Amino acid sequence: MLRLGGVTAGFGPAQRVLDGVDLEVADHETVCVLGPSGSGKSTLLRVIAGLHTPDAGSVELSGRDQSGVPPHRRGVGLMFQDHQLFPQRDVGGNVAFGLRMRGTARREADHRVAELLGLVGLPGAERRAVTSLSGGEQQRVALARALAPQPDLLMLDEPLGQLDRGLRERLVVELRALFRKLRTTVLAVTHDQGEAFVLADRVVVMNEGRIAQTGTPLEVWQRPASEFVARFLGFDN
Ligand code: ATP
Ligand code: MG
Repeated sequence: MLRLGGVTAGFGPAQRVLDGVDLEVADHETVCVLGPSGSGKSTLLRVIAGLHTPDAGSVELSGRDQSGVPPHRRGVGLMFQDHQLFPQRDVGGNVAFGLRMRGTARREADHRVAELLGLVGLPGAERRAVTSLSGGEQQRVALARALAPQPDLLMLDEPLGQLDRGLRERLVVELRALFRKLRTTVLAVTHDQGEAFVLADRVVVMNEGRIAQTGTPLEVWQRPASEFVARFLGFDN
């Protein structure tokens, strides 16, 4: 369970990017964050991951306050839009990265890598060069890498951002099934409403560093809580 209380963050006193954000993500829940460019979505993920220190408020993971806890001890996995695979490592080396860092024995890591590559639809791809993979395949490898250490919370920032429409639509359905199967707790930023609708148990709409509305996709689309949310969702006639 992730719990944020009054999280305020920014870049210097003149630029407040998050303004008193309260948010809970229950275990095994998938929450999608929507909102205009610049509304603070990526900053929110970075604060939770420990990559950006908030000015005020609390971040709690599995009942433990995270202030002062460094990123690698938070039990979170973070996948950025530009997934940044290590080009000099092969697929297996990329997926095993976090496992080896944590001191997992080679044999166990190999087994886990094989399992994960199967799960993301790339069975047996261990020895392939990442540069030989398509964009969609690279995205799957990045996902396997983020899943490998079995994070308590998996955070995705525009995970399918660079892919074409058809591939996105296919992958999002696969992701949904995968998260259900692994019972992963997920916080995902997307600008694609269709994607949020498929993926999310609950959506959060952000505006200027605040949460404008949260609810199930159906609740939010059927009853936007404000003019801002209605307009953002495109009900602007
Ligand atoms: P997008 O949908 O475009 O990814 P976002 O909702 O993820 O947007 P953030 O990246 O969280 O938005 O940025 C929120 C605000 O913080 C923006 O106004 C941005 O310019 C500012 N910002 C982000 N990173 C920095 C930084 N390193 N230094 C100064 N300002 C920053
Ligand atoms: Mg962003």
